[in-house]
Amino acid sequence: MLPYATLEEAATALGRNLTFAETLWFNYSAQKSDYFLYCHNILFLFVIFSVVPLPMLVIELLGSSSFDKYKIQPKVRLSFPEMFGCYKDVMRMFFLVVGPLQLVSYPSIKLCGFMQLIGIRTGLPLPSAWEIFVQLAVYFMVEDYTNYWIHRFLHGKWGYEKIHRVHHEYSAPISYAAPYAHWAEVLILGIPSFLGPAVVPGHMITFWLWIALRQIEAIETHSGYDFPWTPTKYIPFYGGADYHDYHHYVGGQSQSNFASVFTYCDFIYGTDKGYRYQKKVLSKMKEELRGVGEKNGGFYQDLKSE
Ligand SMILES: [Zn+2]
Ligand SMILES: [Zn+2]
Repeated sequence: MLPYATLEEAATALGRNLTFAETLWFNYSAQKSDYFLYCHNILFLFVIFSVVPLPMLVIELLGSSSFDKYKIQPKVRLSFPEMFGCYKDVMRMFFLVVGPLQLVSYPSIKLCGFMQLIGIRTGLPLPSAWEIFVQLAVYFMVEDYTNYWIHRFLHGKWGYEKIHRVHHEYSAPISYAAPYAHWAEVLILGIPSFLGPAVVPGHMITFWLWIALRQIEAIETHSGYDFPWTPTKYIPFYGGADYHDYHHYVGGQSQSNFASVFTYCDFIYGTDKGYRYQKKVLSKMKEELRGVGEKNGGFYQDLKSE
């Protein structure tokens, strides 16, 4: 809820005319409570997880050779009922766990903000593009680091058997399986997502962007396809689909590639050695058997059948 009744009042308070984006924001949010704006996240989650994986579903069902050469585990292909089943399971989880979690997490975020006398703000002026960029970078770094250690803990005997095993039911992940996990894992891994905004609170728009981008990143990472043209290839130390796919391929025994976004944690703590070794061996094999390698395209699967 903005503390101005009209655009003129807002302009007077700011000491300048509102930008186009600020006018849009005023018109949309002026009469809405902060809590209601915060809860938009639930809608974004439902929409993003329903829509963003759709192209990957079509690509998987088409089975076209132009895309298949980028499939990381080409010998594993799920049918439409299997993928739809995964989607239904994830939606049920959203409805029963993620949605309610969002509803009750607002007071704690608010509390953290209050403690720092900042809080996630909804007012004017809007943050600059630079501020949004820096805060998003911090959120991704905080999430990545915290997620690394929680994920690594979940690969212990107890954590894996009781909780994390569910996420690893897909040894060849698909986009819809990105949030497919035990309800306890969904709750636990919610902490890294909220930690960044709690520590460095920004504008509500930045928070929305963060939730959306983090989900899109997870969908891409679980896509099962390693497209060379994906823009994320230009992000320094970005893991991507190939990186996380290896973690799923190895499965419960995996002690490699724990990080959710970047590669530096696994590098620093020495948990990327298996992946690096495989990559080296496979690229050597690919060199030697260039023709065969290009035809099959599936690195890990080829190795498995060796
Ligand atoms: Zn895992
Ligand atoms: Zn995963």
